[in-house]
Order: sequence, then C-alpha cells, then structure tokens
Amino acid sequence: MDLSVVRGRLEAAEERLSPFAARSKASHGRAVPEEPSPLRTAFQRDRDRILHTRAFRRLKHKTQVYIAPAGDHFVTRLTHTLEVAQVARTITRALNLNEDLAEAAALGHDIGHGPFGHAGEEALAECLPEGFRHNYQSVRVLEHLENGGRGLNLTFEVLDAIGKSSKTRDDILSEGWGIPATLEGQAVKVADAIAYLNHDILDAVRAGVIEERDLPLSTRQELGDSHGARINTLVSDIVEASWDATGEQTGAGAAPAIRFSPRIHDVANELREFMFQRVYHYEQTLRDAERGKSVVHFLFRHFVTNPGGISPDYSRPDDSVERRAADYVSGMTDRFAIRLARELGCDDAIGWEQG
Ligand code: MG
Repeated sequence: MDLSVVRGRLEAAEERLSPFAARSKASHGRAVPEEPSPLRTAFQRDRDRILHTRAFRRLKHKTQVYIAPAGDHFVTRLTHTLEVAQVARTITRALNLNEDLAEAAALGHDIGHGPFGHAGEEALAECLPEGFRHNYQSVRVLEHLENGGRGLNLTFEVLDAIGKSSKTRDDILSEGWGIPATLEGQAVKVADAIAYLNHDILDAVRAGVIEERDLPLSTRQELGDSHGARINTLVSDIVEASWDATGEQTGAGAAPAIRFSPRIHDVANELREFMFQRVYHYEQTLRDAERGKSVVHFLFRHFVTNPGGISPDYSRPDDSVERRAADYVSGMTDRFAIRLARELGCDDAIGWEQG
C-alpha cells in the first residue's frame, strides 16, 4: 500500500485553511531537498524532529525565571515551551491558520536558551565578540548542532518563526528580532508573551515575591481574577482583534496581522512592565542572576583555555574556540552547569541549592 495517500489527505485538508495560512505543500522548503514523509506534512515532520532532539529534553532543567528552583511546581523552560505551544495552537486553530506550523515553531523557539535564563544569555553575549541571542541560538542548534552536527534540515517557515520569536522590553507586540514571515510565526511570538506573563505571575506568588492583589488594577479589572481568566481574556482578544487573518472578512483593511485590541494591548503592556519591575528585577532574582552569570563566565573561560574538554557532540570542529565554548556552555542545563563549575572550583557554584 502506498501510505502517501495519508499525506495527500492531510495536505488536502490544509486547502480549507484561511487564504492567509501557510500551507506545507507551498513551503519555501528545506536547505537540502528531501523525499516527503508519507504520513506527515512537512510542518508535522519538523515538529517531530524538534521533539526528539536532546536539546528539547534538556529544557526540563533550564530556568524560566527562578534559577534552579527548589519547588516542583515552578515553571521550567520545558513547561513554558509546552504552554506556548498550546496557546499558539489555540490561536491558530481559532483563526483557521496552520496549527502544525505554530506547534513546530513553538516547541523549538527556546531550544537555544542557555542555563540560568536571561542571565546566562547576557553572560554569553558578553563572552562572544559577535554577541549571543537565544533565538538565533535556537536556529543554530536546530540547523547546525543537533543530529551529530548535521542539523534537522527544517523548513524555512519553522526556522523563520523561531529566529524572530523574541521581543524587546518596550512592547508586547514589538518587532524585536523581525516580524515573522507567516501569521503562524506571529501567533507563536505573542503566545510566548501570553504564556510567560501568566505563569510568571503564579511563580512569583509561589515564591512570595508578589501577591495577586499587587497586580495592576487594569490587569485585575480587564483580564480577570484567576490564571485561567487572564489567559482566556488575552487569547480571546487576540482571536477577535486578528479576525481578518481568517479571510472571512472582505474589505480593504490593513494586511492581516496577529494583534491585540488597543485596550487589551495597553493592559498587557502595563502588566508586562509591572512584571519587569516587581518580578524579573526583584533583588533575589537579580542576585541569583549575577551568580548564574558568573558561573557561565567561569565555564566559558575554562573551555576557551581547555578546548579539549568541549564535547564534540555540542560544537563544530571548524569553529573558533570561543564559538565552540559558547555552544557547549549554552547547551548546559542549570544543574549541569552548577555541578561542573563546582567541580572545577568556581566559588559562585558552591552551596547553590538545586531543584
Ligand atoms: Mg519563550
């Protein structure tokens, strides 16, 4: 039996998506052409490839906000990633866009995050002359480091959405590192912010940093009083405000985009700014961040001086020693980095509680 009838059926179903949706059959393709999978569309195949990487598994021990937290209920990069995928799938399904593309990009979007969250990213940026950005590193891991250095040969649309998934502080919908070429990529970008704002509130309350009643009045009045209500308001607003992405409305409006209504956009920005001031820049968080940075600096210096210790599984032999050290260190989980730095005599890694 020719199983490719299955892919044919899946691709035919994509024809019923919005005219603005990305279609796997019309993908700009892979760097190296491949025979298609008989059972899956190109985007479904990319999703599976990302899910089966070692880099994806390591997300479970990488920090979201709280560094190597002691409690089992704190969000990690892995659970954050799964929440982003779920929010992005809800948005894209509601707007009749390509859910598989959104899922693939969401699962891969943070795969290049180093240990200790944004602190680790900052430290690596200080180490490398060309700088370091986790979104670019996600693309690098998927294109060049995974699969024994051969990469996963993903489609253009998935890599584009991952590379442009980051935003700057000024606005929840900021262009950041570029506007994704697909609406599905835009959905992942905003789903990332919806997911982290909401789970970071829970974590901050759990850590005793804030209480729910400290949240801005606009958040409580407009988004709701519970975790579920807040996510629901934000996601519903995105779907309504982005409805022209479904192609069901005709008329000469602006090009379809994934957006909030102006009012909820303001509320979400106010909440985001509150989180920066009260949670992300909280004293203890900053102290742990400094410690995480110093561990990353220590490990980077160690491997630049002792390149023989860099695992060939996480670096490319022809790259500069700095690049190889950064690739190796950025792949480490919080706990692996702490343990290794401690063994190598880094003072900042001693006595650090680990989850
Ligand atoms: Mg993220």
